[in-house]
Amino acid sequence: MLNFDSRSIVSAAFLLLGGILLFAGCSSPDPSQAKSSGGPVSSSAGEGDAWKANLSEDVVQALSELPEADRSAALAQKTCPVTDGPLGSMGKPVKVTIEGRDVYLCCDGCEKELNSHPEKYLAKINTPN
Ligand SMILES: [Zn+2]
Repeated sequence: MLNFDSRSIVSAAFLLLGGILLFAGCSSPDPSQAKSSGGPVSSSAGEGDAWKANLSEDVVQALSELPEADRSAALAQKTCPVTDGPLGSMGKPVKVTIEGRDVYLCCDGCEKELNSHPEKYLAKINTPN
């Protein structure tokens, strides 16, 4: 029973550590300066609108439909590995988990292609640019 207890303590510690890291990563030295772009930006919740920079309105709209965690991942991936088109350009990106990885596709039409050649497309994601 000691074993069970120590395992839950370890996972709690990891959660705590993750929370601290996340918090440290998000907090900037001077939060009042972080959002200085003084535009008519509507109520930006928490993280702000920095991710929208350099994205077209359509893409912003599509990515806004994703949960925050998925959106960050889709932004990191940037393009659909099947079409090489920007994620969000065809509407809300489609999330597919393949070989243990979350992959974002521009549309569900690409899912079949991804499933046909997973290694080819996963390799493209693994090597950005
Ligand atoms: Zn597609």
